[in-house]
Amino acid sequence: MLSDAELHTLRAVAEALIPPGGRFPLGAGDVGTAERAGRYLAGMAPETQRQVRLLLRAWEAAPLASRHLRRFSRLAPAARDEWVERCLASRLPWRRVPLLLLKTLCLAAFCADPRVEQALGYAHGCLDARAPATGPRLTPLQHPEVCGDVEEVADACVVGSGAGGAVAAHELARAGLRVVVLEEGGYFTQADFTGPPMERVQRFYRNGGATVALGRPTIPVPLGKCVGGTTVVNSGTCFRTPARVLGAWASEHGVADADPATMAPYFDEVERVIGVRPVPWEIIGRNAEVFDRGVRALGLGGEPIHRNIVGCRGCGECAFGCPSDAKQAMHLTYLPAACAAGARLYARCRVERMRIERGRAAGVEAVLLARDGDAVHGWSWPPPARSTPRGSSPGAACAIPPSAATSASTPPSASPATSRRSSVPGAGRSSPTSSTGSRTRTAS
Ligand SMILES: Cc1cc2nc3c(=O)[nH]c(=O)nc-3n(C[C@H](O)[C@H](O)[C@H](O)COP(=O)(O)OP(=O)(O)OC[C@H]3O[C@@H](n4cnc5c(N)ncnc54)[C@H](O)[C@@H]3O)c2cc1C
Ligand code: SF4
Repeated sequence: MLSDAELHTLRAVAEALIPPGGRFPLGAGDVGTAERAGRYLAGMAPETQRQVRLLLRAWEAAPLASRHLRRFSRLAPAARDEWVERCLASRLPWRRVPLLLLKTLCLAAFCADPRVEQALGYAHGCLDARAPATGPRLTPLQHPEVCGDVEEVADACVVGSGAGGAVAAHELARAGLRVVVLEEGGYFTQADFTGPPMERVQRFYRNGGATVALGRPTIPVPLGKCVGGTTVVNSGTCFRTPARVLGAWASEHGVADADPATMAPYFDEVERVIGVRPVPWEIIGRNAEVFDRGVRALGLGGEPIHRNIVGCRGCGECAFGCPSDAKQAMHLTYLPAACAAGARLYARCRVERMRIERGRAAGVEAVLLARDGDAVHGWSWPPPARSTPRGSSPGAACAIPPSAATSASTPPSASPATSRRSSVPGAGRSSPTSSTGSRTRTAS
């Protein structure tokens, strides 16, 4: 939460970046840009909030050490403009990068206001007017239906349900292993994929989209946090791993059989499951058409990119969740298949500790999060209390004991899992598939 002084600075930054009275009829102050940006920040991790607050304080104080001898928010509008322009043009990253971060935040908040959309003449719409399809649905196990201490017995525990986890879960489950998938994020469907982009980023991305790889330069690396992982919010472009990369895997990392010919049937299979195809010209959009004209005028070759889509309507909202169930993300493809093969899927279940025995993963410990679990728990360590009264707490513990959870290389177990005092209703299966024998052991 920003203090009054920090909000004051953010307001001054927003108004300098998007001033009133220009060619565009609205300025940042007309639509409460700083206040909205402040609400976005409140949804981010405490560490991110702390850094932005520090940044705002530093930004506010910086002109004191210049010929202006005043705080940023006290500068006259012309001086603010000049300060902002000089920072944007600066070759010094410590002057330029903070402003770029604040600019991103302010523009996202500004553009989220319906009055701005209207003034821009922007209308939500699809290039293809067909009604959207509805894909398969999952019923993940989650709090509050699951509560108290839960113990799952499995041959393989998959942490995360994104591109890697979902495919691994499916392959292991259909090979006959008892598979449990634990996903920290919530389960969202097309009905959730509406509203301003930044607000969707807040809901479906880790840390409100503010994840970075620290270094020089610091690079934003946004990550999805939901059932289906980043595939729910990615752009859906699908390239096969290039031969030179496969070659590097083989020569530098000793990965056996990583050559294009050996990999080809696996690529074929994945592309079939997730519906990879060239983007149809009917929905490719004006920018791609212009680009194509340029390519041809230059005598170059090209074709539409390949994407994992079925019935794409060309609305261009892929990075905020597909409202048409057209992008064949993991929650619509591999996860339903994994659950149909017997995998048990937990949502809002964060793995906090992995048990290693004799160099092998032997179990994990996780907490089930309440619907507002992120806000309640953050990234605390040690984890919240393990014993929680049924239904009365935002969190419950979930442990896969060392004797039961084994690595993915364990051969399929002949004996079925046992069930005792289960407080775990049903499995994470895709409807309408019925339950097929995987059971849990729980103790509350
Ligand atoms: C905006 C955007 C656009 C992109 N566009 C493309 C594209 O067009 N083409 C392309 O090939 N790639 C694209 N990518 C990248 C691609 O989506 C990812 O590389 C890919 O999804 C990574 O797969 P993964 O399984 O490693 O991780 P993810 O898909 O990110 O899944 C990891 C999952 O693990 C969960 N998790 C993490 N820690 C825990 C824990 N402790 N307990 C429980 N669960 C946990 C996370 O919540 C997450 O759901 C894009 C990415 C972004 C952000
Ligand atoms: S895949 Fe992307 S462009 Fe196509 S319908 Fe879904 S969100 Fe819209």
